[in-house]
Amino acid sequence: MLDQSNELAAWDRDHFFHPSTHMGTHARGESPTRIMAGGEGVTVWDNNGRKSIDAFAGLYCVNVGYGRQKISDAIAAQAKNLAYYHAYVGHGTEASITLAKMIIDRAPKGMSRVYFGLSGSDANETNIKLIWYYNNVLGRPEKKKIISRWRGYHGSGVMTGSLTGLDLFHNAFDLPRAPILHTEAPYYFRRADRSMSEEQFSQHCADRLEEMILAEGPETIAAFIGEPILGTGGIVPPPAGYWEKIQGVLKKYDVLLVADEVVTGFGRLGTMFGSDHYGIKPDLITIAKGLTSAYAPLSGVIVADKVWQVLVQGSDKLGSLGHGWTYSAHPICVAAGVANLELIDEMDLVTNARETGAYFRAELAKAVGGHKNVGDVRGDGMLAAVEFVVDRDDRVFFDASQKIGPQVSAALAERGVIGRAMPQGDILGFAPPLCLTREEADIVVANTADAVKSVFANL
Ligand code: PMP
Repeated sequence: MLDQSNELAAWDRDHFFHPSTHMGTHARGESPTRIMAGGEGVTVWDNNGRKSIDAFAGLYCVNVGYGRQKISDAIAAQAKNLAYYHAYVGHGTEASITLAKMIIDRAPKGMSRVYFGLSGSDANETNIKLIWYYNNVLGRPEKKKIISRWRGYHGSGVMTGSLTGLDLFHNAFDLPRAPILHTEAPYYFRRADRSMSEEQFSQHCADRLEEMILAEGPETIAAFIGEPILGTGGIVPPPAGYWEKIQGVLKKYDVLLVADEVVTGFGRLGTMFGSDHYGIKPDLITIAKGLTSAYAPLSGVIVADKVWQVLVQGSDKLGSLGHGWTYSAHPICVAAGVANLELIDEMDLVTNARETGAYFRAELAKAVGGHKNVGDVRGDGMLAAVEFVVDRDDRVFFDASQKIGPQVSAALAERGVIGRAMPQGDILGFAPPLCLTREEADIVVANTADAVKSVFANL
């Protein structure tokens, strides 16, 4: 088991305020401290030398896998030459300019500029401000509301936490704040009336959206934000026809579309962007995670030409943009980004995400899909999830207090594989590095089947 007796673990309990952690159990030493020490490919190890296959790529971000020297060399070289210079009033570095060009070359058609930040949350803050600015420039100051989805995840800030549609991120913080609204989650397995086809459920979601726009007044609705595939909300692919129907409604009422591709950008669905995969034509795209494979913190907003033209008019009217971070386009982070995107191409990881991802999901379905407590095995590209139920025929769900998802992920961790208990519902998520091999996929699947068997046998 994990060593909690060493001095570092004591310092950790006494001084380190961890994000997304149960503060009491951690501080009292009732939950494990794991001190991570190294990684290579899909494997990580802790300071006790205990190895695990990281089948969630950190927080679905280490797309190229751990220990890639090309990226650490690029970071070291940039740190030595020029560790920092800001990007305000027209400044840049070779790496920031090169990375912006590389992103636009890979982005869906119609995209024109990249604004750099550090986290997915701050990039979505940028999106919100750009959306409000855009409508101010166009002389529509009342068009400011933004519609998100229940179960969407868009960040942890005050406004981005409001965009997020998960109770855990709202309840204790007086979120969501106006002017954010939430519409129905496209979660066919959980929400659909059983007599509805997927297409009908997609129509139902589009109808709910249209009703909300009409009830609020289309002149007040500025934008809609969604992840191409719901991520933290449960790894739920969109039902058939969903994006086409949603985009039809948005177009009708002149509502901007933000594709939050923090998880799906740079290959995870087996295409460079999830928008390409599902036929989404966004006005703004949020990127982070896979942009540097998390070797350094970097995010961005990709702006479509249509929006860019209005922003330019704005500065002609209003002066320079009052929005910037000290670390926008931080030289070390963008240098990591350039090396990372080159590596994704050199290793052909987008193809591997598509092909090995399909193999992994098929094997997972074969191994656990028949278990009486498995209601759904789903995913797309190199993303997969297993949802646990009391009764699969009647779709009866466990009470949250039974913590079935966390029990399965703990049983899996004991077997040397890291999956993630998603925060709402009993869902075990997988998002391995895009370099996963079939042999590694087999190990993840075999251990998952064993973990599932043991948890339900002991229930
Ligand atoms: N958007 C999506 C789709 C995400 O999954 C996340 C993080 N999991 C974020 C935004 C927020 O990113 P960060 O944690 O870097 O602020």
